[in-house]
Amino acid sequence: MQQVRVRFAPSPTGYLHVGGARTALFNWLYARKNGGKFILRIEDTDTERSTRESEEMIMRDLKWLGLNWDEGPDVGGDFGPYRQSERLDLYKTFAEKLIESGHAYFAVYDKEDPKKVLYTSVQRPSDGTAYTIVFKVPKNKIISYDDMLKGTIEFSTEYMEDFIIFKSNGFPVYNYAVVIDDHTMNITHVLRGEDHISNTPKQILIYEALGWQPPKFMHIPLILGADKTPLSKRHGATAVEYFRREGYLAKALVNYLAILGWSVDEEIFDYVEKVSSFSPEQISNKNVVFDYQKLEWVNSKHMKMLSSEQMYEQFLDWQRFTGNDKQVPKSVFEICKEKVNTLKQLYEFALPFIEEEYEYSDEYVEKFLKKPEARDIIQNALQEFSALDEYNIESVEATLRKIASTLQIGTNKVFQTIRGALLGKLVTPGLFESIVVLGKEKTKRRLKRTLEKIDSLN
Ligand code: GLU
Repeated sequence: MQQVRVRFAPSPTGYLHVGGARTALFNWLYARKNGGKFILRIEDTDTERSTRESEEMIMRDLKWLGLNWDEGPDVGGDFGPYRQSERLDLYKTFAEKLIESGHAYFAVYDKEDPKKVLYTSVQRPSDGTAYTIVFKVPKNKIISYDDMLKGTIEFSTEYMEDFIIFKSNGFPVYNYAVVIDDHTMNITHVLRGEDHISNTPKQILIYEALGWQPPKFMHIPLILGADKTPLSKRHGATAVEYFRREGYLAKALVNYLAILGWSVDEEIFDYVEKVSSFSPEQISNKNVVFDYQKLEWVNSKHMKMLSSEQMYEQFLDWQRFTGNDKQVPKSVFEICKEKVNTLKQLYEFALPFIEEEYEYSDEYVEKFLKKPEARDIIQNALQEFSALDEYNIESVEATLRKIASTLQIGTNKVFQTIRGALLGKLVTPGLFESIVVLGKEKTKRRLKRTLEKIDSLN
């Protein structure tokens, strides 16, 4: 049996989109399942829009997701080079063949009006002339192929026009280069977004003209936004990098992309462990809608699956990547990690523990600090905590409950007043744990600071 060889072929014209990441994932799974090879090819023939920065970003994000490739521009391989801009000679050679065999011709343009075709010819135009190479579409032909997901797809060439395969700037167009590359790189299966269905007949015509067998195609439904149009910036963030910055775990993002349209037996899993159960037939032919809330839920599940050590490591990695580099002590990390869904939320939870100049939220000030009993509550806490010998969760809790009963104020009000006094916010890790982690001295200092804040309000 032929070895499975699949590829992910991004155009380096921007960031890695979650849709692209999902395509890469399905290719990766298919290669790993079949003991095949996963190839990364950079399709940079659009010279105006392609950049090295984008290429590097795409590779960085794929690596972060764990979708490692066996051959590619950075790691090399037997079928390189893996950047289209470095394969121009190859494209030229086959274009010559197409001209010789009568499947393509030159179109020569007017120097003054570069859109105007002066004449076409099978002879190479003299140097300095602006020309393109055009593929000749055979008339009245039915092109048919079996899509692994969509079944048999047929196109008629009746309304297809001849199309350019080489531009006048000496670069090939995508539909042509992709054929040369997939063939010369021995690609066996092309798994890609269904936005490429309409390109497939052109590609098949080129395969046929060169006497080559096309690979098997599988066109995967696109990821849509809530309004059922293809997911784009209009719907919210779509860059893999964005989700990394927001503190999502790579494994969680991949898990979510996997279940978007792949029916597996369970919803939460480590994709690496699912390789053996992957089969392309399980990919749904229905449209899938990207659900940001569900992604956050998946992430929270993955956070819970990590040991404390593992999560700390991921957290440090996130800090390095985002530059949110305030050092979070392990004790603070431990209590913050319980209630959060992302690493970024964890950091935001931790910040008030670290910063002495924490802000008081408007909500806290309005609902608690401006109330007449706030001063009493805080003053009492200051006194009682100062007198505490054993400073632990039980004693701290008992102290706050005692204050509530002495002052005849509801416990919730006491707790929230103290919570905000110490951390500035009403949503924080568990109150008693937080007070213990802050320690007696910090707690006292912060209560005093809040008393001063009350003074400044009056
Ligand atoms: N460069 C193309 C894209 O980014 C690749 C399409 C394909 O997989 O053939 O859409």
